[in-house]
Amino acid sequence: MPSDYYELLGVDRDASQEEIKKAYRQLARRLHPDANPEEAGAEARFKEVARAYETLSDPERRRRYDMFGADGAPSAADAYGFGSGLGDLFDAFFGTAAPFRGTRTAGGPPAGSDLEVTAEIAFEAAVFGTQEPVVVRTAVPCGTCEATGAAPGAAPITCPDCGGAGQVRRVRQSILGQMVTAGLCGRCGGIGQVIERPCPNCRGEGRTVEEKTYLVDIPAGVDTGSTLRLNGRGAVGPRGGGYGDLYVHVRVRNHDRFQRQGEDLIHELHIPVTQAALGAKFSYETLDGPEDLVISPGTQTGRVFRLRGRGVPSLGGRGRGDLLVRVVVDTPTDLDPEEDELMRRLAAARHEEVAPADTGFFSRIRSAFK
Ligand code: ZN
Repeated sequence: MPSDYYELLGVDRDASQEEIKKAYRQLARRLHPDANPEEAGAEARFKEVARAYETLSDPERRRRYDMFGADGAPSAADAYGFGSGLGDLFDAFFGTAAPFRGTRTAGGPPAGSDLEVTAEIAFEAAVFGTQEPVVVRTAVPCGTCEATGAAPGAAPITCPDCGGAGQVRRVRQSILGQMVTAGLCGRCGGIGQVIERPCPNCRGEGRTVEEKTYLVDIPAGVDTGSTLRLNGRGAVGPRGGGYGDLYVHVRVRNHDRFQRQGEDLIHELHIPVTQAALGAKFSYETLDGPEDLVISPGTQTGRVFRLRGRGVPSLGGRGRGDLLVRVVVDTPTDLDPEEDELMRRLAAARHEEVAPADTGFFSRIRSAFK
């Protein structure tokens, strides 16, 4: 099996994204384990091809692969356990579940199913990362029969119909001659063993349902819509089958001041007109603690003060975004007589024409608009 990704897909090194996609589709159809249960090594080859496609279809990872080879382009799934692995690619093309879990490969019990759960976390937890307990209802190995499915003292026996192969061959005559087809053994369902006296606790399933709590490491920088994949934390398969995966969908609660825009945080900061005109310096609470914020004299609404590196860390990368403080200048609406007088003196000094002092002027205007 060639190890070069381009050779695996059978494309030139300067192939376009379209050519790479086309080559992958053709190979995937041919090598897909369901389509091709007989050909030795097809499944392993399919995985290699999918891995090659996963890298070459992403321009940034392809560039790193070209420079450093496979070690320079680890998949996101390898590095962080994110749900961008083979399963997702497979979904995109075939609209089915991942091919290597839950498929009834003959000669052994099938793996358990994948599970999904949503973890709702605080805004700060998404920025700095957290460990979050998630509770799932899942299948676990039966303790009574140790996942064999057989009653105590009664071990499973080799299936008499398929001799343990899990597959049966059927031969039939057609006009083209003898046709041999292979299918899952109906008696043992492909497991290769049958149980004569099932375990009373799990009724022969070899597994029971239980509520489990997992502590999930949530990396800094996640956002609503991020999905983490925990390999092998899904349901166990029947009678000693493997485990599925657990997908944790992240939902981030809102913050009362900050909004996220990619890796930047945005805060709309209201300041009074005096601070806007004369400038101010005050302690400003970032997610990392208080910092001095200097409002320069003559600040207008819409001006943005940038606190570098006080935003959200890039997910699985280096660096952090910025905190952008966008100023909104508030016009005072509750002037007492003394303040009113000060404003009028300011207006007079600046030769700015304002409405006359309260002699019913505004109440007349208001009544005119009624
Ligand atoms: Zn049992």
